[in-house]
Amino acid sequence: MNAAPADQIRLLDVQALDLRIAQLDHRRAHLPEHAELERLGADLAQLRDLLVAARTEDGDTARDQTKAEQDVEQVRKRAARDQQRLDSGQVTSPRDLENLQHEIASLARRQSDLEDVVLEVMERREAAQQRAAELAERVASLEAKVTEAEQRKATALQEIDAEGFAVAKERETLAEGLPGDLLKLYERLRAQQGGVGAARLFQKRCEGCRLELNITGLNEVRAAPADAVVRCENCGRILVRTAESGL
Ligand SMILES: [Zn+2]
Repeated sequence: MNAAPADQIRLLDVQALDLRIAQLDHRRAHLPEHAELERLGADLAQLRDLLVAARTEDGDTARDQTKAEQDVEQVRKRAARDQQRLDSGQVTSPRDLENLQHEIASLARRQSDLEDVVLEVMERREAAQQRAAELAERVASLEAKVTEAEQRKATALQEIDAEGFAVAKERETLAEGLPGDLLKLYERLRAQQGGVGAARLFQKRCEGCRLELNITGLNEVRAAPADAVVRCENCGRILVRTAESGL
């Protein structure tokens, strides 16, 4: 294959732009914000679960409290009725009187026990509310961090995309002037050789595989006409000769 030396040099420029595009793609895929947002998202999901649990407990204990307060009220009303009967003087039989007094005393104990239950439920509810308030604060602070990281990510992506667009345009313009067969060979080698299809021969060394050409290889390159497209004997990449090739 033949290509004008100037076109071969220009192919190196295309190669440099392709490497820059690959770097930008890599940067876009590996922004630190991706991992950061993933971490924050996992933490946030966990905290939100805890918050839901705390709010559920608040609701549950609120119902428990209402129920316990109703129990107290029921016992209190019944004790008040008994006391009223006792005070009315309508109960006269000593046995009935004794029973009534016994029940009033028993209701007082029951009321006291139920009031303890109310207090205990209220304490549990307060603890749940406090936990919910703390968790809500932590969720809000984490959400702010997510927003901040997302903004940073959007800014970084915008910059990368802007540069990527400019580089792609420059690459397109440069490649347009190159012979089709040279470009085709370059693209094929680039796909096979980890993104580098053309390399400079610099001081007897292929800059694609970093290996120095042996005497035979060097002699072949020296003997090749200037417009011949030579390939590296080691890696097979297009080897572009310049004034600094050491030939
Ligand atoms: Zn090589």
